[in-house]
Amino acid sequence: MPPDHAAVDAARILEVVQRYWGYDTLRPLQHEAINAGVQQRDSLVVMPTGGGKSICYQVPPVLAERCDVVVSPLVSLMKDQVDALRACGYPAVAIHSGLTPQERSDAEQTAVSGGCRLVLVAPERLLGSSFLRVLSQIRVGAFAIDEAHCISHWGHDFRPEYRQLADLKRRFPSASLHAFTATATQRVRADIVAQLRLRDPLVLVGRFDRPNLVFRVVPRDDGYVQTLEVVRRHPGQAGIVYCISRRETEAMAEYLLSAGIRAEHYHAGMEAEPRRRTQERFSDESIDVVVATVAFGMGIDRGDVRYVLHTAMPKSVEHYQQECGRAGRDGLEAECVLLYSGADSIRWERLLGPASDGAAAAEVRQTALALLAQMRRFASSIECRHGALSHYFGQTYEHASCGACDVCLGELNGVEDATVTAQKILSCVARVQERFGARHVVDVLLGENTERVRQLGHNKLSTFGLLRGQPQKALGATVHQLVDLGLLDRTTDEYPILKLNAQSWEVLRGQRGVRIVKRGASGVRRGTLDVESWEGVDRGLFDALRGLRRELAAQRGVPPFVIFNDATLRELARRRPTAPAGMSKVRGVGEQKLADFAEPFLACIRAYCQAQQLSTDVEPPAKHRQRAAHAAPPPPPRALSPAKKQALEMFARGRSVADVAQSVQRATSTVNEYLCEFIVSQPGFDTAPWVSPADFQRVCAAINTLGPTPLTPLHEHLNGEVSYETLKIVRAALTARIGPPDKRRPI
Ligand code: ADP
Ligand code: ZN
Repeated sequence: MPPDHAAVDAARILEVVQRYWGYDTLRPLQHEAINAGVQQRDSLVVMPTGGGKSICYQVPPVLAERCDVVVSPLVSLMKDQVDALRACGYPAVAIHSGLTPQERSDAEQTAVSGGCRLVLVAPERLLGSSFLRVLSQIRVGAFAIDEAHCISHWGHDFRPEYRQLADLKRRFPSASLHAFTATATQRVRADIVAQLRLRDPLVLVGRFDRPNLVFRVVPRDDGYVQTLEVVRRHPGQAGIVYCISRRETEAMAEYLLSAGIRAEHYHAGMEAEPRRRTQERFSDESIDVVVATVAFGMGIDRGDVRYVLHTAMPKSVEHYQQECGRAGRDGLEAECVLLYSGADSIRWERLLGPASDGAAAAEVRQTALALLAQMRRFASSIECRHGALSHYFGQTYEHASCGACDVCLGELNGVEDATVTAQKILSCVARVQERFGARHVVDVLLGENTERVRQLGHNKLSTFGLLRGQPQKALGATVHQLVDLGLLDRTTDEYPILKLNAQSWEVLRGQRGVRIVKRGASGVRRGTLDVESWEGVDRGLFDALRGLRRELAAQRGVPPFVIFNDATLRELARRRPTAPAGMSKVRGVGEQKLADFAEPFLACIRAYCQAQQLSTDVEPPAKHRQRAAHAAPPPPPRALSPAKKQALEMFARGRSVADVAQSVQRATSTVNEYLCEFIVSQPGFDTAPWVSPADFQRVCAAINTLGPTPLTPLHEHLNGEVSYETLKIVRAALTARIGPPDKRRPI
């Protein structure tokens, strides 16, 4: 490397990437992130799980011919990562508590001998005297901090041992620091920059949308049966089932086991040893399903998790996104199913405990409730799920239809006569004088002749038995949907009570129609990526290759994904090469792996194809040749409506919302949305025509204090003095300022 650390072009980078990993394209931001490493400019790289962060710190030391240090939080991950790197022929060592003194001294020796490009180390070892000696000898040029959000107590995974990293900059002033995380919140990002004392960092933020995930929200009626149904949809594939309580994980794992599924439970109440065993058995493919609480997370290194199922709603969209992120890290299609019942919120509210004294406690509770409400809105909405998630994290989503969620796949149907049903429910709430919960209201509507109903005289109400014959669960779900739609209120006390609100009266008076959805009878449909990624793949051969991979992994004492990932196996089963030259064209086959594994894999392919009389050395269709496995082809952009086009032009001239609304004959709320889109698309455009500078400052300050937050808590934080419209505009301006998602952005 020349001393001025000139930037390197993509071709040079691809040479390295091709040699070790066998990939022929870079993913978004990898080029920029790698250059920051090469040029030793501090950086913060935010990419979703599976986005390809590791390569960003693995490539620079090769190009710059130096040895870098990676700080990584989990011993199990480090070990697997080093195994995976070595399988690619990449020289790396890990130094952690799991090594014997001899192994450790060997590892240190390798590091100082200069025969190594990367040293992985646990944070608590980093500044110990023995590792400092090693560091002084290798004259480290760059430190990469993996899972950097662990340094922030605003993050979901704060680790006290990460705090020592704050000292790195002082001790190694000439080394650059590179922080990597998948966390989406602005507050955590700012905290990482501050804690690590990054100097003028290059901040790269990727797109949070994961096009290969298919999202489904399914009303829960029988959680066990529904879970089994999803699991059976993925025979022999890896999946994670999340439950809220430890007890539930055990019961569900037992149920799945009794149905012949290779499942085990996992939660933080287990001893360390059985917990480690379960994780290991999942990683080496001895089991297919882990039924877990949220405790099962960061240590999962299996990239081929084909589905994540939530048996109940998680407590925030952040949690949901994080947990779903564990599916499909190999870029192949994967399914995320949320079994949802409106009662889930009530359960979380109970877990939060009653409103307690003290301003601080009240604020925490309030924030938690706001997050919960957002999650509920996500679960009950009938918008594209990819769009909803992108918007939640402050990113735009340009596609009209994602082709990868229950809404866009047309799996949801409107319920007939929804307005009439809603009216019956609401009038029953009125008849019981807004003093009862959902359960009782449902009983009355179904005409249940229980003692309680009789005691209260509710069997005499005109609404008694008005919806007789409906399935109880479905009716309960409908009541909750009305709450989610804001057409009915529910108190958040220990015994939640249904209350009518202004919208309820509009429905009752017939001034407002109601749309309620349920899942259509047609069941699930296959997403576009699912269809495409199997195109031309011989499933039998794929399974045979998977078996071979497992065998080879067991022989070598490494997890199977270290050999090849599923994307590579599918491509092998599609191209069916019979000679090393053909095999080297397959994405994921680098030089070392070709040398080590060509023989057994080619033998397996030849034998299988001969027995099945399958053609070999197939040239796949173009789309499977060049596309990065990660990115689904974007659906065509939606055309602008004439009204919207005119509105945007008027905004460019600084016209007010009222003016524009009048000219284009659209509701103010719609025009406000146009305005926000306009602002997002015009970074740096002055918002003064629509927001006073004083308000702008105030909202920015509040966002800085609260971090990324839904609008409601923000509105409340400002004592309701700033309108929602203004909040949206400021948020749009900040999003624009931060830059289009795939570009550099100041924090
Ligand atoms: P992250 O750490 O961001 O969750 P990883 O670094 O583990 O993600 O990468 C996820 C998967 O994507 C890995 O299997 C990795 O080898 C693969 N990958 C990374 N970069 C590329 C690329 N440019 N082309 C194809 N696959 C890639
Ligand atoms: Zn969609």
